[in-house]
Amino acid sequence: MFDGLTGRLGDIFDKLRRRGALSEEDVNAALREVRVALLEADVALPVVKQFVNQVKERAIGQEVLRSITPGQQVIKIVHDNLVEMLGQGEEINLNAAAPVPILMVGLQGSGKTTSTAKIALRLKNRDRKKVLMASLDVRRPAAQEQLKVLGEQTGVATLPIVPGQDPVAIARRAIETGRREGYDVVMLDTAGRLSIDEELMAEVAAVRDATKPAETLLVADAMTGQDAVTVATNFNDKVGITGILLTRVDGDARGGAALSMRQITGKPIKLLGMGEKIDALEAFHPDRIAGRILGMGDVVSLVEKAAETIDKEEAEKLARKMEKGQGFDLDDMASQLKQLRKMGGMSGLMGMLPGIGKIKNQLKDANIDDGVIKRQEAIISSMTKKERKHPELIKASRRKRIAAGSGTSVQEVNKLLKQYDTMRGMMKQVQKLGQKGLMRHGLQ
Ligand code: GDP
Repeated sequence: MFDGLTGRLGDIFDKLRRRGALSEEDVNAALREVRVALLEADVALPVVKQFVNQVKERAIGQEVLRSITPGQQVIKIVHDNLVEMLGQGEEINLNAAAPVPILMVGLQGSGKTTSTAKIALRLKNRDRKKVLMASLDVRRPAAQEQLKVLGEQTGVATLPIVPGQDPVAIARRAIETGRREGYDVVMLDTAGRLSIDEELMAEVAAVRDATKPAETLLVADAMTGQDAVTVATNFNDKVGITGILLTRVDGDARGGAALSMRQITGKPIKLLGMGEKIDALEAFHPDRIAGRILGMGDVVSLVEKAAETIDKEEAEKLARKMEKGQGFDLDDMASQLKQLRKMGGMSGLMGMLPGIGKIKNQLKDANIDDGVIKRQEAIISSMTKKERKHPELIKASRRKRIAAGSGTSVQEVNKLLKQYDTMRGMMKQVQKLGQKGLMRHGLQ
């Protein structure tokens, strides 16, 4: 497996060298490209500006991984920041007394009615909820019919149509029916307009006041790009939304609307509409949308692979050293701690160190956790080079100095040295196994 990876990255590794830290010029050059990509993806200009400045501040000075260019490194940083800004997908909030009212709002044609049925179907099938749907759209004659048909298709109940009722009256009747007939959730599909108007906002606000929804979801069409931002801002200011459902993500829109809406309203994007079919509803995954917005997925995966490979390289270096029978010193321990921290756990590292499976449990006993790891790294970096090579030199006075230098205590320094002894002992065991030929296994 390692062979394949090396092969793929072969050309790049020919030019292996440390590139040092990202300079302001590196970052500016790459961010020019990013700016264009974001604007093309329909991210609103103020959001682009704010985002680019934020990334610039974070990127300058970061270490560039070997085997990739500074530009590629910046793209990866941009990607990670995009993911962070887009926020995690959240579930629909059902934390309220049954029947839980969910209010669906948005412009006409955004996919509101379809999405109402999609959510109802999901709640019914996945969460085993008893759902009642009601259309409050009394303007479009066919709207209530449309929901009824969708209800029949999905096997979800709809509120019987009573002509002449206004939206608030229908909403109240829906909640009453829900309560009386033991529904868990009542979905209220409000009327839309072709554009934002005061009357629509007042109507939706009146329904909200009458029903106190647990969730007010804005349904917005990804294809409308920047307009979606205006719509989201208006609904959020006038009605107060709790989340966003972005539709037509199956189309070729790049998804910049998602970033703008999230940034401007601060409300989470909860679900994505992925087609006309009634089950085409997906949870929101920020990394997928980030990839789409940036349109530079290849670069991102290249950097991820390079990072993975470097971790492997470090582990291999240590393994080779052990194999040659050289001793395990505190520099090796520091390098291991760094990797452990990067990989978020002991198990990842053990997977990389051949022959170590046999002593897995002993390593577990060493009980190394994340916060401790950082302090331990600080302790080792407060030692002199000589001390790291020859830990036996570290006597009482040196321990005091190291503790002061690393902002830790002598007890912690003692503990680290003890742990080092344990690890060295275990490495010796690995070496013994290695001499029996096990070490080579897995390195090939
Ligand atoms: P409403 O006026 O907001 O209630 O919009 P509708 O639910 O009636 O949807 C308008 C049109 O958009 C219908 O033809 C839907 O099938 C279609 N639609 C809704 N959601 C999606 C989606 O996620 N992807 C695609 N491709 N079409 C959708």
